[in-house]
Amino acid sequence: RAKQSGRNGYQFYTTEMQLTTDRALQIENALRRALERDQLRLHYQPQLSLSTNRIVGVEALLRWQHPELGQVAPAEFIAIAEASGQIQGIGEWVLRTAAQQAKQWRDLGLAPMTMSVNLSAVQFRHPDLPELVARILAEAQLPPQFLELELTEGVALHDPLGAIAVMEHMHQQGVKISIDDFGTGYSSLSYLKRFHAHQLKIDQSFVRDITDDPEDLAIVNAIISMAHSLGMNTIAEGVETQAQLTLLRAQGCDEVQGYFFCRPQPPEELVAFLRAHS
Ligand code: C2E
Ligand code: MG
Ligand code: MG
Ligand code: MG
Repeated sequence: RAKQSGRNGYQFYTTEMQLTTDRALQIENALRRALERDQLRLHYQPQLSLSTNRIVGVEALLRWQHPELGQVAPAEFIAIAEASGQIQGIGEWVLRTAAQQAKQWRDLGLAPMTMSVNLSAVQFRHPDLPELVARILAEAQLPPQFLELELTEGVALHDPLGAIAVMEHMHQQGVKISIDDFGTGYSSLSYLKRFHAHQLKIDQSFVRDITDDPEDLAIVNAIISMAHSLGMNTIAEGVETQAQLTLLRAQGCDEVQGYFFCRPQPPEELVAFLRAHS
């Protein structure tokens, strides 16, 4: 578009780029203070087992409310935090807060559930990660099998063997690994079987049109059979309708997560939901 509209178009293009950079810088600067000013929160979205109809886990999703920028989406600020190195501090806060929340719910007598935490590729590559996870579990007195790390296929992109070694280490510790957004990355199937993942998370882009698009249905079906053949289970994300849920159940999908069942909620609200469903 910029090229076609000539000089003015070029002008427009640079202005737009400038705006993008300004916003990124603004976010980076604001993010520096987000932790100390207590602006970060975790919301939690339940994961429902289709075989038992029980809530078997929750996923922690980061929320940031800034006084001037308003609510900034993780899709926007996580990438900035990764590039600036701030993801380490934020990621540690997320892990600790989620682990302590899981422990608190156990102490309240709620049924045991896994706590799923998203880990960015940058966090995953940090050499201290296994030690950090061990320390946080010990602090929270949370048994490792109740923590699940959600990694995307991208973590293995540049250094597959390094990534596999870290996953192996986590697996030895007893922590579970789920491959998030599965089907959208470039992971090779020969690596996939060495990932020590216990779960593939079917990306919501395949779930969205599953009732109308036979190709999406075929992909979902293939992911489920492959996962089961390799000894993994499956969870579908972004389930918004009863029709999607019915179809996923018929395909043998193990778990679902999405607005149809429950939106991500602040912890106080989620407790009421968990109590009502136990
Ligand atoms: P994700 O881990 O794949 O999370 C799923 C996203 O889908 C979440 O968006 C969730 O709120 C949203 N979602 C849940 N159910 C539905 C549904 O039925 N329909 C639709 N359309 N969306 C649904 P959110 O919270 O904006 O997070 C976006 C991404 O940001 C996450 O994708 C994850 O990659 C990243 N993220 C979120 N929290 C963290 C975090 O604590 N650390 C890191 N490293 N990344 C995070
Ligand atoms: Mg799970
Ligand atoms: Mg996730
Ligand atoms: Mg996902």
